[in-house]
Amino acid sequence: MYLFAPCCVLCGEKVGSNISLCESCLQDLPRIPSCCYRCGLPLKNKLNNTLCGQCQQSLPPIDYLISSLHYAYPVSYLVSQLKFQHHLVHAKIFAQLLLTTLQAHSLYHSIPLPEIIIPVPLHKKRLRQRGFNQALEIARPISKTLAIPVSTGLIRRAKYTQAQSLLNAVERRKNLRHSFTLIKPISAQHIVLVDDVVTTGTTVYELAHLLKKEGVKTVGVWAVARATHHSK
Ligand SMILES: [Zn+2]
Ligand SMILES: [Zn+2]
Repeated sequence: MYLFAPCCVLCGEKVGSNISLCESCLQDLPRIPSCCYRCGLPLKNKLNNTLCGQCQQSLPPIDYLISSLHYAYPVSYLVSQLKFQHHLVHAKIFAQLLLTTLQAHSLYHSIPLPEIIIPVPLHKKRLRQRGFNQALEIARPISKTLAIPVSTGLIRRAKYTQAQSLLNAVERRKNLRHSFTLIKPISAQHIVLVDDVVTTGTTVYELAHLLKKEGVKTVGVWAVARATHHSK
């Protein structure tokens, strides 16, 4: 395991910056040009930061979602290397990308910063298998740069759920129901959830439901990547 790679993680080209991605690979990363500010899905009308049709019909429990990338190759490749090959340097790259995205995002500047950041928790069995929580590894450098504390002791993933990737949206919701429990009272009014990938949104929606039931006013999501129907 290494913490700093002087070469681009995608093409092997030498890099001068501290992000371990060369300029051209960085430019080529898939992005969603205009997306719904509430769920992060692509908008047909191309008007950035408006609501998609589905959110207009029924507002999701999260108040906003900011993501850096479209979950497609090579982002999917980098995410799986982080999760399954222990390439922890990718968490640093992702954190850096998210920070850059936040700084450039109008929404980020128009609302107050959250009081705490909560990385989407892993079940302790999965944490043991993997050895680390990728969401926490991504949240840590962000927390340091923005001086917002990370909280890992507030919510526990109580249910050991089947791998979400094998299920469809309805099954995912069923699979995740009541899977999180609050272990301490929450005083924060504005919380951001950090995750590597938001796929259907079920996980962050479930967490937001729980937090709002406890009186949290605003729940946002900062995710490295957002999957769409076209994600591979
Ligand atoms: Zn490169
Ligand atoms: Zn939406």
